[in-house]
Amino acid sequence: MSSICSRCNKQIQPKDMVVVCSGICKGKYHTSCVDLSHQNYTAIKECGNIKYFCNGSLSILDFCMNMQREMNALKDLMNQKLIEFQKVISTNSYTNLVAKRRSYAEVTEDVVVIKPKTNQESSLTKSELRKQLNPSALEVGITGMKSVKDGGRVA
Ligand SMILES: [Zn+2]
Ligand SMILES: [Zn+2]
Repeated sequence: MSSICSRCNKQIQPKDMVVVCSGICKGKYHTSCVDLSHQNYTAIKECGNIKYFCNGSLSILDFCMNMQREMNALKDLMNQKLIEFQKVISTNSYTNLVAKRRSYAEVTEDVVVIKPKTNQESSLTKSELRKQLNPSALEVGITGMKSVKDGGRVA
């Protein structure tokens, strides 16, 4: 079966020195058409580990390798983001509040939670606080009192 050089499109004769591209095109080339030296031609013929790639296939190979590198970088980034996201999920106070795994006092940060030693009316806690803390002397004021699980909440 005769074949044609992928560069010059001429018939390949039995006496011609020809290389076969190991890349995607699988084309056959006259060594003279691809500027392959006789030394390199001999090396390719004699050593199975040395492959010939035409310029077109080489640039496609390059493109694929770059793509693979980018995909790997993207995969690493996604994994990193996933780990960060999992950290956020496991430490986010909102999630814990929703999950009701922690008490109100543990998940709130901007309020002071007063927990009386014994159960008592929140109005009593409030009046006791006013007596002992003197809110007008503090930078924070008692603007609200709410009966919650852990005691009175001062906001
Ligand atoms: Zn040719
Ligand atoms: Zn090729």
